[in-house]
Amino acid sequence: MESSDWIKEIVSVFSLKTLTPVQIRSVRPDRLVKMARRIESFERSCPQCRDHKKELNQTLVPFKENSELTDEALHAYLNMFRNLLDHLKTEHKLVYPGHYAALYTLPGMVLGAAFWLSLRWIYNEISVINLPLKMGLLVSLFIGLAIGRYLGHIKDKKYIQADKKLY
Ligand SMILES: [Zn+2]
Repeated sequence: MESSDWIKEIVSVFSLKTLTPVQIRSVRPDRLVKMARRIESFERSCPQCRDHKKELNQTLVPFKENSELTDEALHAYLNMFRNLLDHLKTEHKLVYPGHYAALYTLPGMVLGAAFWLSLRWIYNEISVINLPLKMGLLVSLFIGLAIGRYLGHIKDKKYIQADKKLY
């Protein structure tokens, strides 16, 4: 992907600034760059993206200075990061990678268990031998989990193909 001067500048800010490993984990420069690309694609039509761009530029100023990053500067940056992320999620409908796979896991398990419990109940009503509870429950939980994750994965893939990934 061709990078604009603005993106190149952001990348260079992070390549020049020495951050501790702990800072890198909270600053997430890679994710910021990806979100900045999103701002660029939306800023013409979205005034809020233009505001986020200004805020981003402001919070990056301390990163360009040749001194240690203050807690205030880091705090302002993380605030901006969170606001930008929220905006891209709610206004532009972007999603986290693997969002739906994670989201569908629990409902899948619940449905799997519910399916097993009703099946067992019906079976025990009509048959003399009772189905064992635990083993079937374990298996159905696992199958429900797998189906939930699989369906979520398919949906995630659609978002990736539609270029709707947050970072
Ligand atoms: Zn926007």
